[in-house]
Amino acid sequence: EKVYVNGEIVSPENAKISVFDRGFLFGDGIYEVMVQLENGVFYKKAHLDRLQDNLKKIGIDYNVKEIDKQLKPLLKASDLTESSCLIYIQVTRGTAPRKHSYPKGIPASVMMYALPYSLPAVNPKHMKAILEPDFRWHRCDIKSISLLGNIMANEAAISSDSDEAALVRDGMISEGSHTNIFFVKNGTVITHPADKHILNGITRMIALKLCDDLGIPVIERPVAENEIEHMDEAFFTGTTTQVASIAQLGDHIFYNNDQVGDITKKLQESFAQLRKKDTAN
Ligand code: PMP
Repeated sequence: EKVYVNGEIVSPENAKISVFDRGFLFGDGIYEVMVQLENGVFYKKAHLDRLQDNLKKIGIDYNVKEIDKQLKPLLKASDLTESSCLIYIQVTRGTAPRKHSYPKGIPASVMMYALPYSLPAVNPKHMKAILEPDFRWHRCDIKSISLLGNIMANEAAISSDSDEAALVRDGMISEGSHTNIFFVKNGTVITHPADKHILNGITRMIALKLCDDLGIPVIERPVAENEIEHMDEAFFTGTTTQVASIAQLGDHIFYNNDQVGDITKKLQESFAQLRKKDTAN
């Protein structure tokens, strides 16, 4: 196992970042997670473009081309060139005396690592999800490393024997703690618009494109908590979640057996087909 840190590829025990790093002090940074599957890094360009956009949103001056360039050497050093793996990337504003305002002229801190990680072509889970209040801030479109709201919601799910938490803001379901959420009603797919209250997932965008390819109508609007019982199907999307059927959401049971809704299943199958293509660029 190796870690890329600020220009070097080293062993984890030698991968060091200052305690004055703004990521450590303020959570002042952006992260990205992507997976290498059978045909290379799945939607690599989309992930790196999102990282670049996010860095721009918070005024970190760093070009992700360097990350792209360092990825191959990192995978090689980690013996993962040909393997399925998960790639974690984090860029923070850098190291400086603790002061809220952005320090000028310091280099960003960059860290990434890859770990062996296998993903079945179709997520076999029948997810059970709880509903949790979405008390996060109003810039959830930023893929910030500050994830307290997300981890608290996810912990509530895991500690109550569920798989995920769906977040509710002002009576509306926004997204999962680390996923986007979709519903299906009368053959139409419904998902929260990509505004400042959700992270616009790469997998969300892929799912929307697959709907378009399959001729499945889509409406981007928030679904109210009290509409759940009227929905036919629901699923989560995410880089490691792919497309996961939801069996139970809050008190509402979609299926109490291993059934998967028709549209969810179609999307899972189309998603599995995508993995056979070269999507890195
Ligand atoms: N929403 C949140 C809050 C997330 O953390 C994630 C995963 N990082 C997603 C949605 C899904 O995004 P993606 O499909 O790009 O993994």
